[in-house]
Amino acid sequence: MQFKNIVGHQALKEHLISTVHENRVSHAQLFLGPEGSGSLALALAYAQFINCEEPLASDSCGRCPSCIKYEKLIHPDLHFSYPFFAKKADETASTYMEDWRKAFLENPYMSLGHWRNQLEAENKQANINIAEAHDIIKKLSLKSFEAEYKVLIMWLPEYLDTQGNALLKLIEEPPAKTLFLLVAENQDKILNTIISRTQLVKVNKLSNDEILQFLVNDKHIDVNRANEIAFIADGNVQSAINQLEEATNENFDLLIRWLRCIVTDAGLNIIQICDEEISKLGRENQKLFLLYSINVLRQIVLLNQGLDNLVFLKDAELGFVKKFSEISSLEQLEVAIDLLEKTHYSVERNANPKILFLDLSLQLVLLFKYNTFPQGTQYI
Ligand SMILES: [Zn+2]
Repeated sequence: MQFKNIVGHQALKEHLISTVHENRVSHAQLFLGPEGSGSLALALAYAQFINCEEPLASDSCGRCPSCIKYEKLIHPDLHFSYPFFAKKADETASTYMEDWRKAFLENPYMSLGHWRNQLEAENKQANINIAEAHDIIKKLSLKSFEAEYKVLIMWLPEYLDTQGNALLKLIEEPPAKTLFLLVAENQDKILNTIISRTQLVKVNKLSNDEILQFLVNDKHIDVNRANEIAFIADGNVQSAINQLEEATNENFDLLIRWLRCIVTDAGLNIIQICDEEISKLGRENQKLFLLYSINVLRQIVLLNQGLDNLVFLKDAELGFVKKFSEISSLEQLEVAIDLLEKTHYSVERNANPKILFLDLSLQLVLLFKYNTFPQGTQYI
């Protein structure tokens, strides 16, 4: 994780970097910030910067062997500790490392709720158990394998019960070149004995504007829609992502039903979907639906060309994309993307949505069902 890939927090990033340049890296630090503020990502970027072999002035290089392992969370001197749901008393965070990597790499702003979903343990009690505390002591007593600093990032030390006291000596007098980075959301729930032994790094809630930039620049969301989402998200990237996923599910459902009618030339159903669903979405959502559809078609093109590794869709979406790639040619897909882009342009210009989407649907029927290309196109 590089600093540049984390939303906002410019002043804090500069402060963290200056502690490294000025040789003031404290061995035990508590990153304290609200859910969805990116404090876990910041702690990781900080550790990656400290261990980077060719650091830039204001970020890690992202390319050296250390950074590459950090980016994948597989560096042998980088350890994570986090709440989990022990099925047996001797389980430690390492038992769930694969899930952890997957969850964090998918969403570095994840909340405990998101992590619970990943573990399919919604209603269970999470904690950092005594076996984990002992495992940390064991891991950190080993010599580092290759990095200058051994790092332990503990996410949500709120879930360390009194067994956290087993770690106090280690936090107070860690072995040489060992960094403890604790990442917490709620100061009141952390053992006082731990707070008193760490240096506080305050991570502020993100501003609406920072969330807006994230949505527009990283997620390519239309600025009006991004504004709405940012307003509701209230500084929480996880909440913004949840809203996006809900919208994606709705768009996915609509796209599948619409395309199914198109490839079977189900005339009446097409009219119904255009009249009663797409027309009523409102202009901004129609644009989002088109952008989403274009995105999915592009993914089908990649599959069609055998570039499976570039396809980022998952589960149901991926299943659909695979099926559709088998029944469509590259030419058909390219023409379809072109038609959708033209429709997007027309929606922006306030054309009548009923006529627009009906016309688009009929052209797609000709294209996919009858392999007839619109007149004037140069694709054949
Ligand atoms: Zn590097």
